[in-house]
Amino acid sequence: MKQLKILAQFYVDLMVRLGIVRFSLLLAIALVALAVIVQVGVTLVLSGEVNDLDIIRSVFFGLLITPWAVFFLSVVVEHLEDSRQRLSKLVSKLEEMRTRDLDLNKKLKGNVKKLNQEIEEREKAEEARQEAMEDLENEVFQREKAQLELAEQTALLRSYLDTSPDIIYYRNDLGLFSGCNKAMEQLTGKLEKELIGLSPKDVYDAEVAAKVIDTDRQVLQENQALTYEQWLDYPDGRKACFELNKIPFYSKDGRRLGLVGFGRNITERKEYEDALQKASRDKTTFISTISHELRTPLNGIVGLSRMLLDSRLDDEQHNYMRTINVSAITLGNIFNDIIDMDKFDRRKLELFPKPLDFISFVTEMENISGLMAEQKGLRFDLERLTDLPPHISVDSTRLRQVLWNLVGNATKFTKEGGVVMSVSADIHQDSAEITFEIEDTGIGIPEEELENVFAMYYQVKQGKDNLHAVGTGIGLAVSKELINLMGGDITVTSEVDFGSTFIVTINVPLVDHVEEEEAMPETKSSKSLRIFMLEDIELNVTVACSLLESLGHTVDVAMCGEDAIKQFDPTKYDLALLDIQLPDMTGFDVAKILRDKFDNLPPLIALTANLLKEKDEYFKNGMDEALSKPLSVKALTEVLEQFSMSEKKTDIPSVPQEQEVSSEPTENDQLIECLLDLEMLESYIEIVGTKPIYANIEMFEKSMKEYIQILDTNMTARDQDGIVFETHKMKGAAGSIGLKHIQQVAQKAQSPDLPAWWENIDDWVEEIKNEYEHDIQILKSWLEQQDK
Ligand code: ADP
Repeated sequence: MKQLKILAQFYVDLMVRLGIVRFSLLLAIALVALAVIVQVGVTLVLSGEVNDLDIIRSVFFGLLITPWAVFFLSVVVEHLEDSRQRLSKLVSKLEEMRTRDLDLNKKLKGNVKKLNQEIEEREKAEEARQEAMEDLENEVFQREKAQLELAEQTALLRSYLDTSPDIIYYRNDLGLFSGCNKAMEQLTGKLEKELIGLSPKDVYDAEVAAKVIDTDRQVLQENQALTYEQWLDYPDGRKACFELNKIPFYSKDGRRLGLVGFGRNITERKEYEDALQKASRDKTTFISTISHELRTPLNGIVGLSRMLLDSRLDDEQHNYMRTINVSAITLGNIFNDIIDMDKFDRRKLELFPKPLDFISFVTEMENISGLMAEQKGLRFDLERLTDLPPHISVDSTRLRQVLWNLVGNATKFTKEGGVVMSVSADIHQDSAEITFEIEDTGIGIPEEELENVFAMYYQVKQGKDNLHAVGTGIGLAVSKELINLMGGDITVTSEVDFGSTFIVTINVPLVDHVEEEEAMPETKSSKSLRIFMLEDIELNVTVACSLLESLGHTVDVAMCGEDAIKQFDPTKYDLALLDIQLPDMTGFDVAKILRDKFDNLPPLIALTANLLKEKDEYFKNGMDEALSKPLSVKALTEVLEQFSMSEKKTDIPSVPQEQEVSSEPTENDQLIECLLDLEMLESYIEIVGTKPIYANIEMFEKSMKEYIQILDTNMTARDQDGIVFETHKMKGAAGSIGLKHIQQVAQKAQSPDLPAWWENIDDWVEEIKNEYEHDIQILKSWLEQQDK
């Protein structure tokens, strides 16, 4: 078949190449030839010979058949060829189309792939989007949840902040308020929304604002928390002390947003501390009062034992008496220390220099120190290394106190050997530099302790003998302070186990002479007086009697108020000394009764254990003069002289007029007069009656409670302006209802320029607080009287 196909192709190709005519001719020739060959062959086979006819027939046949056959064939072929060519064209077109198709297919595939990729990507993106959406939803949900939680927490925090009694506030980086809690709103009197945007200057007074701004600056500059105490005012004037704690605060990304402040009200703590301080002050005052009181009998012991030492005693008695004397002196020194300690605390040590016979002073030191040393079986020597100035100006009591203290220590801390005091003076024209050296052979002081011994309450700790335990640790501190006040100094050198040397140097003015020696009992007043004495303490009686008798006077004694009133006969006495504190009544009561009972009295002199602050108080209470105990010989002599010279019963100074003039106004009247502004009240009542006054009193009572509360906080804060402000209101209020006394006290309290205002303000405030209710009662009962 394949051969056939090749043949056919060859046929077609030939026909195409030759063209149909030439091909037909060729084919006709070929066919004729074939017909001839077939004819010849067949004839030859059949007949064995070939005729021309056969050949002609064949040619002829050929010529007849060939054109048709050729034509037919050619047409067929041509058609075929046409078809073939069309087919071939088709095929090539098809081919082309196929390639195009392939191309397209390829492209399509590419596109599809791309599409798939895209789809995939899109799907992925979708997935991602879905996920993102989910995440977003989740996030939104979470955020909402967080917001909800945050809102809850914020609300919780807010209520927590608002219920906090501490003040809490925030300020931004510019120092402006950006939020606060309720407590802060109350403190500033502003709502949070009003406060926001304000600066401390808009909220606090200038002083507080300056402090606030300054501490804010510190916190922000150093980026550190800061705590300090600050008194702040409430809008109603109440003060509270806050412990303010400021800390910088930051956003999540570390940006500083400003500061947060927390303030804890520590007023109560302050008040407590104040009360504690006051208690401690009271305690010190109590101790010094007690020591002061104890000194009175002690002076008696010292004086009388000294007198006894001069009398006839056997050796044993003399020894005992010396012990009594030295012990009393030592005890006196300890009391001095205690009293000084109180003054030392308040920086109140004072000197009262007076001319002193220095030679006698040194001799006295020699005797007393000798006694002290002897007491312990120690030697004592006093060496005068140079000439000494005969008279100097110095506070001899204080100098004596210092030297006694040093000698006392020297003997206390020495077990064997002795004490040497040397005195030398470098005398200039108007002054002298005096040096006392007190040297002992005692236990000594370790080098590192040398400076410490001058500190208050300090006692050297080590020491096998435990000698240090005896004492108060006050003496040297006070001594140093005193000598420094005298412009001098105390120094010490010491070697452990070998002894110590204390050196005192003072620079003192020289004086020409010394006036009459202060306490010489020999000094007799010009006239012998008959004295009546009311004193309940036996020892005081003995000391005063021996003193007065040694001055040449006679003394009768009563030991309680009742006896005094019974016993006293004004014609028998030139002078009466009345103790104030008695077991049954006060000396003032006695004076009053005596004045009521007798027309003419000798001068009545009060004896008081208290310091004489204001003699007026004594004069007001019927006394002509007052002396403080322990009795100073000088003061007593002066008073005796003053009254012995004056004509008895006539020249009585300072007796209050009203007591002499008439006995009409009762004590109550005087009290009312003293407490109430009667003039104002009477004229007021005349116009409007008593009713409005009662109403005013009610209002006054109410306001006073508030004022006092606020005043108390100001007192604790020691805020002068606040105190002045409140007491000023009190003054006005008291004045408006005629409480004269309260008004007067408040007037003092509101006047900070008065001398020693700070020293007195506590007393004034206490007086107002303690007495206003009582005064109101007096006012009410007076008003009732008026109504009748
Ligand atoms: P006090 O003697 O009452 O304890 P002082 O202030 O007088 O108080 O003395 C303080 C301390 O100094 C004493 O407790 C003691 O330890 C030490 N001291 C003072 N004088 C001497 C001395 N002469 N020898 C050794 N120690 C001394």
